[in-house]
Amino acid sequence: MAVKENEVGFMNIAVLSGKGGTGKTTVAVNLAEILTANYLDCDVEEPNGFIFLKPSEITSRDVHVLSPVIDQEQCNLCGECTETCQFNALFNTKKEILVFEKLCHSCQACSLVCRPEALSFQERKIGVLEKGKKEKIQCWRGILDVGEPMAVPVIRELLKDAPSGPNLLDCSPGTSCNAVNSLRFAQGAILVTEPSAFGLHDLKMAVKLVQGLKLPFGIIINKWHGEGSFLEEYFKEEKINVLGQIPYDRKAAEKYSRGGMLKDIPVYREAFHKIAERVREVLKCN
Ligand code: SF4
Ligand code: SF4
Repeated sequence: MAVKENEVGFMNIAVLSGKGGTGKTTVAVNLAEILTANYLDCDVEEPNGFIFLKPSEITSRDVHVLSPVIDQEQCNLCGECTETCQFNALFNTKKEILVFEKLCHSCQACSLVCRPEALSFQERKIGVLEKGKKEKIQCWRGILDVGEPMAVPVIRELLKDAPSGPNLLDCSPGTSCNAVNSLRFAQGAILVTEPSAFGLHDLKMAVKLVQGLKLPFGIIINKWHGEGSFLEEYFKEEKINVLGQIPYDRKAAEKYSRGGMLKDIPVYREAFHKIAERVREVLKCN
C-alpha cells in the first residue's frame, strides 16, 4: 500500500505494541538514531525515551485545557448544563452547580445552553511538553501531570506541530484512545511484539487497529530466541510484513536497565540496521 503524507507533508511512523513491556521504546529510540528520525514520546503517562537518548538544550512549556467556571450569582440553577454534559462533569446540588474538572472534556457544550451566560472557561494546566536535541535528531515528549486522567490533549498538543519527518512516534502501550490518538497523526506503523501467547493475543488487537485505520505497517519481534512458529503462522495467514527480529540476551537487559542503547552492542546494531532497511522498504521511510 502506498504511504500517504499527511496534510502538512511530513512523515510520521507510529511505534506501538499490543501490550506493555514488549520493548516498544527500545525499538523507537534505537531506530530513531539509526534512521536519523526525530523521536516523539507520545507515551505521556510514562515517557521514558529521554532516559536512553539523553537529549540536550531542552525547552519546555505547559499544556492547558479549558475548564468551566460557574458564576453562581448569575446562575439560576436551571440544570440545562448538567443535562447537556455527557461526561458527568457538572452536578446540580439545587444550591449550586459543582464542577468536577478532571471529568471535563472541554467540549464547551454546557456554555451553549446556558442562557444567563453564567458559564465561562479558564485554562487549567494538565501537563508539559519538552523539546530537545540529540545531534541531528529532534527529541520531543509530552508529560501528563500526576493525577490527571486525560492524556489525549497532551498527545494532540505534542503532535499537532510535529517537526518535518521522518518522525517516530513512541505511542502508549495497548490499543486505548491514547494510542488511537497518536495513530491519527501517523502515515505508517511499526508494531512490536514478543514471542509469547500473551504477546500474540495483544498483538492481534493492535493489528486490527492499524488495519482498521488502513495504515501500512510491519512487525518487529523482540526478545527473539529462535522459537515462535505460532507467530509465523499468524503472520502468514494475515499476510503481515515482518521487519525483523531482535535477539533476547541478558546482557541487553542489563544495558537497558542502565539506560544504555542496544545499538551499541554489535549483534544488536546489526539487527537494528537490518530492521532499518526493511522499514525504509516497507514504510518508505528515508
Ligand atoms: S465543557 Fe463539555 S465536558 Fe466540560 S463540563 Fe462542559 S459539557 Fe461537560
Ligand atoms: S445552564 Fe447556566 S444557569 Fe443553568 S444551571 Fe447551568 S450554569 Fe446555571
